[in-house]
Amino acid sequence: MRILIAGAGIGGLSTALSLEAVGFSDVQIFESAHELRSVGVGLNLLPNAVRELTELGVFDPLAAQAVETSELLLFHRSGGLVWREPRGRAAGYAWPQLSVHRAHLQNVLAHAVRERLGEDAIRTNMRVVGHATTRSKGVSVAVRHDRTDGAIHMEEHADLLIAADGIHSAVRAQHYPDEGEPLANGLIMWRGMSRAAPFLTGSSMAVIGDMHKKLVVYPVAPPDAGTGKQLVNWVGARPDTCVERDPETVRRHALEFFHDLSVTWLDIPSLISASETIMEHPMQDRDPVTNWVFGRAVLLGDAAHPMYPAGSNGATQAIVDARVLAHALATSGSTETALMAYERERLPAMSRIQHSNREMGPERVIDLVHQRAPDGFVDINQVISEEELQTVSATYANIGGFEPEELNARPSYTVERSTSRRTASEVTSS
Ligand SMILES: Cc1cc2nc3c(=O)[nH]c(=O)nc-3n(C[C@H](O)[C@H](O)[C@H](O)COP(=O)(O)OP(=O)(O)OC[C@H]3O[C@@H](n4cnc5c(N)ncnc54)[C@H](O)[C@@H]3O)c2cc1C
Repeated sequence: MRILIAGAGIGGLSTALSLEAVGFSDVQIFESAHELRSVGVGLNLLPNAVRELTELGVFDPLAAQAVETSELLLFHRSGGLVWREPRGRAAGYAWPQLSVHRAHLQNVLAHAVRERLGEDAIRTNMRVVGHATTRSKGVSVAVRHDRTDGAIHMEEHADLLIAADGIHSAVRAQHYPDEGEPLANGLIMWRGMSRAAPFLTGSSMAVIGDMHKKLVVYPVAPPDAGTGKQLVNWVGARPDTCVERDPETVRRHALEFFHDLSVTWLDIPSLISASETIMEHPMQDRDPVTNWVFGRAVLLGDAAHPMYPAGSNGATQAIVDARVLAHALATSGSTETALMAYERERLPAMSRIQHSNREMGPERVIDLVHQRAPDGFVDINQVISEEELQTVSATYANIGGFEPEELNARPSYTVERSTSRRTASEVTSS
């Protein structure tokens, strides 16, 4: 069975690895970019994704340059602590939560894909531009191959096309032609990476501020042996619709905007000043859709469920999608049944997270606190009860399907190759 994947982002690479793990060997990724590069900076992977990466055998190289996140803290913009909760193993999960540099994650995944499926498994400069179901129940995929001497248009045939081509997915656009551009929520994000002295536990993730002024910080690599400093990822958000392109103006704006954000444990202006580059872009998502499966084409990751970056769920869920889809393909009676099982398991759950992230997921408690005490507080219990705080956090964990007991008890998506229906006679006729 030949499977093509559009996009070599976290979703596409995880899918290739997951398919290989259950016995598919004819798998190829078409990536539109000239080379594999990671857009963005740091990333938090929740324990449900780390479990899948562990079972795919890439935990060790990943963890070698990552931080095991031990706690999440939410601070009022005046510096008062609103909420603190343990994370990963500290919260009872059997797998850790990992903060990583995106480039590191992408390199680890791409290296494993090439090692297991061959150097040719990832082809760059290959943009999927359209597809059609063929009479033989396969899929023909229109690809634009960009070369230095011009573009070539090609047609590739496969039994299945998995669209992991991100929020601007061409495959999704073909089936939802009226959808248009992603939806912006009126917030502009700054994203940067700086070297800084370890703060709090050295493995803490902190959110400072509220919907109108927010900064998220967490380290993504162990401290450097020489300097003792850590690579720290930071994401800021402000209400705005205009994106600034000039790097120095971006930095000046960020410094001005956060001048009144203050915590005792981090020098915020130094963090922003130390950032090599600062990217700026709008916060966007799309409305949930009703179908991810179109004949022999299926959506996955951001192509299926683009969501606001609240609660560390986008890439996390793309990795889980990959495993669920591969498991279904390896264990269902036919490809059609497998695709429907994948959609049934993932689509409703992801739609709930998309909606919840519009309310900013668990971080919405700091908005509540800001509304009730805009100038800060002496005693947080006078502003919001412990019960209310617990409810917000627990509700989100429930929506995401990542409560410790649930994840720890869930059977693995690993399928032994000997029992995978794909390893013996490939079911191209299914
Ligand atoms: C500020 C910010 C912070 C975030 N933080 C987190 C976090 O902490 N934790 C978390 O889990 N998630 C986080 N996310 C979300 C996460 O980045 C995305 O959900 C995740 O990267 C989606 O992966 P993907 O592979 O589906 O899509 P993408 O990463 O977008 O990859 C798509 C790939 O497809 C390629 N492509 C596009 N079009 C085509 C085409 N037509 N043909 C072939 N290739 C194509 C692209 O070049 C790209 O390589 C964050 C997002 C943002 C914006």
